[in-house]
Amino acid sequence: MTTYACGHINPDSDSICSAISLSYLKTQLGEPCTPARQGEISPETEFILKTFNLEKPLLKNDFSGDNLYITDYSDLAQAPHNLKETNILGIVDHHKLGDITTTTPLECWIRPVGCTNTIVKEMYDHYKITIPKNIAGAMMMAILSDTVLFKSPTCTKADTKAVKELAKIVGIEDFKALGMEMFLVKSAVVGAAPRALLLRDYKDFEMGGHKIGIGQLEVVDLKVFEGMKEALFADMKAYKEEGGRHTVMLLLTDIMIEGSQFLVVSDDESMIEKAMNTKLVNHEMWVDGVLSRKKQVIPVMEKQF
Ligand code: MG
Ligand code: MG
Ligand code: MG
Repeated sequence: MTTYACGHINPDSDSICSAISLSYLKTQLGEPCTPARQGEISPETEFILKTFNLEKPLLKNDFSGDNLYITDYSDLAQAPHNLKETNILGIVDHHKLGDITTTTPLECWIRPVGCTNTIVKEMYDHYKITIPKNIAGAMMMAILSDTVLFKSPTCTKADTKAVKELAKIVGIEDFKALGMEMFLVKSAVVGAAPRALLLRDYKDFEMGGHKIGIGQLEVVDLKVFEGMKEALFADMKAYKEEGGRHTVMLLLTDIMIEGSQFLVVSDDESMIEKAMNTKLVNHEMWVDGVLSRKKQVIPVMEKQF
């Protein structure tokens, strides 16, 4: 039986980097573990792996007959195929508890911090295992990404502490400058297909019996989306119909001004208006201060639906 560590579908940097960091830790603890991923990596993640000279994890969508450590999610909707045939050894995550269940006891490290890699860092400390420089770099970048350079309301003291300690291991003083460079890479959306942009950081949720899809693009300036919105809306409409969804939303997040422009395609727009307490104009609205889908959008949407 092979053991893997793997994050959610449409993997973000945290999912990829936590698969790598957790696999190395487990292997050091005498439990050989291979990092895997459930999809293509984003330009942001590519930047991180290149900067720290790390290999892409193995592409794998089915872990039937394998052992698996789940990182950065606990929702079935984000899991690989045939999860029932997979022996889940553990979950390391920082989201709300999802609907994955197991038939045997499992190791669980789930806490309300800004990034899975913050928890993995604490696991290294707990087991007194030295983190190699390149893996420390990837972990640091994942935390800077998930916490939007510490600006997100999801960011905790544990996250800033982890980044500072990881930066020391890497030997980088100005980690914020490197983080900003990463967000500039992330902001390069021109030329990308609308579907690729919609799904770059996208999640489907089950809310009140409805399928609700929410994507998010974090950039340093919303001007990059000028001239793209019509194409984005057209694709969101198509994606909504294809999957029988009630709503598809795309959050265009400006990490400098700190807020999000919501693009909404929905069977009932008033539900989104009520949840966010803002009126839509031509299927769009600006919501000041919204940086976190996890903390500032999903809970109010779930309550509303
Ligand atoms: Mg994630
Ligand atoms: Mg995460
Ligand atoms: Mg994120």
